[in-house]
Amino acid sequence: MENELTCNQVIALMSFYVEDKLNSRLKEYVDDHLRNCPKCREIYMQSKKIANHIISLNDNDEATPYYTKQYEVFKHNLSAYIDNELDQNESIRIKKIAISNPLARRDLEDMYSFKKLLHDSFEKTRNEARYDYSKLIINKLDSKLNRNEYDPFYKLLVSFGLLISLIVCGFLVTLYF
Ligand SMILES: [Zn+2]
Repeated sequence: MENELTCNQVIALMSFYVEDKLNSRLKEYVDDHLRNCPKCREIYMQSKKIANHIISLNDNDEATPYYTKQYEVFKHNLSAYIDNELDQNESIRIKKIAISNPLARRDLEDMYSFKKLLHDSFEKTRNEARYDYSKLIINKLDSKLNRNEYDPFYKLLVSFGLLISLIVCGFLVTLYF
């Protein structure tokens, strides 16, 4: 089939697929691939598990006393922190929040397990990885997703998706440059 995706393209799309945010055409391509590729199917199941875990926990966040301004700062900077893009002071600040705030600590741990999962997946398939293509797909999807900002829960899902795509891009950059 002329539109078959490679494993790495599927992995690059995985977070969007898990959140059901792909358009129907892309979703179909991923469906096709997952049907025929046990390796990606396994990654899908793990991603789904982690995503469900994060969603079920985040659902009740705003009702807890830990949902503070500080926590919001933390959330805002989490991806930059994980990608080592913060300066030393900012980075220490985020670390301190993660130590003192259970929500922050949980988010950080979840992000690290997700990062590790995707990293390991990329390691396994790096020979067929195409950085430009994955980035292109993700950028396209990002601009699409950014247009829907009405629902806070949806916003959370989208920002989670964007975070993962940033991590994915970060890894590809690390691997290939
Ligand atoms: Zn595959």
